[in-house]
Amino acid sequence: MKAVAVLPGKPHSVHLRDIPVPEITDQPHPHVVEIRPGHAVRVKVLQVGVDATDREINEALYGNAPPPGEHLVIGHESFGEVVEVGDKVTEVRKGDLVSCTVRRPGKSIYDVIGRNDVTSEETYYERGINLCHGFLTEYFVDDVEYIVKVPRELRHLGVLAEPASVCAKAIEQAYLAQQRLQVWDPRVAFVLGAGQIGLLATMMLRLRGLEVYTLATTPGPHLKSQIAEAYGAKYVSTRQVSMADLAKNTGRPDLIFEATGSAETCFRAMEVLGINGALVWTSITGGSREVFVDAAKINLEWVLGNKLLVSSVNGNRRHFELGIQALAHGELTFPGVTQRILTHPVAGLDRYEEMMRLLEEKSALKVYVNVAA
Ligand code: BGC
Ligand code: ZN
Repeated sequence: MKAVAVLPGKPHSVHLRDIPVPEITDQPHPHVVEIRPGHAVRVKVLQVGVDATDREINEALYGNAPPPGEHLVIGHESFGEVVEVGDKVTEVRKGDLVSCTVRRPGKSIYDVIGRNDVTSEETYYERGINLCHGFLTEYFVDDVEYIVKVPRELRHLGVLAEPASVCAKAIEQAYLAQQRLQVWDPRVAFVLGAGQIGLLATMMLRLRGLEVYTLATTPGPHLKSQIAEAYGAKYVSTRQVSMADLAKNTGRPDLIFEATGSAETCFRAMEVLGINGALVWTSITGGSREVFVDAAKINLEWVLGNKLLVSSVNGNRRHFELGIQALAHGELTFPGVTQRILTHPVAGLDRYEEMMRLLEEKSALKVYVNVAA
């Protein structure tokens, strides 16, 4: 069967290759974790989303091949249909629509209790990213433990299950951490960035009843501003109003969700967060970047204001469930809005070059491959 792969370490090595169709009894990553006997699920891939991580893997900024091979099948945002299940599987059955989690457990206590998303090991194992093959192929097999059901009515949004899990986790982490305050009741949120993560976070925070300002550079109206506003948020171009000036008008935000990919913005956000507020970082910034900040002022305001910084990455199966629930809640509350994120379909695995090229395009909010119907 076809698969889109790279040779990690070698820039721009993306290619189409032929790999064996997996059997239900196969072990996809025996060097990390074994599928329990009878608990395997075989999935026919329908759609796979791609993001900056895939672009950076192709640029050889990170990613490693599973041993003993030299290639890595990429793609970590999966959506497919169950075609076969092991005899001990009761959670899903043939014909169900599903997504699959990304990370596989290491050996730390967090991994043992199902929290591989917060593993304390340096090495993390992620399908399509690091040391495990991904989903940009025709079929895959995994333990039902990592397979998450998507309701049939949400088929058109199923490919957003993984990004939604990342947002749902990050927001939940902030609320969990803020229990330190006993009565935290956030009113104003800034979402920094209007990419897929920024927009899904906008939706999820609106569903929690916050007054949301979604900030990005390009002045609206354009698709991103329209989606943010259709979720009931206010879109703000930082070219027209700076984050600091906005905070003067709205009051300092109680919550800032950062998803810009800009290291500078991560730190600028610290200058505007309100008293008792929480700042959530989700960007994964590559390379090196120095910025000038007034560290004394930030320190003073942060200590006197009991402010919190929480970082969040990845999502385990419970976060996928939360993300899918939020997609469903969002669809009922803002019908037809979320699908507007799905801007750039690619017709089949053969078009992998077009897929990579679209990832460079600024107007491409979401690139995804239609693998099968
Ligand atoms: C993925 C996460 C992953 C992270 C780090 C992101 O693009 O969505 O699941 O943990 O990259 O590799
Ligand atoms: Zn991703």
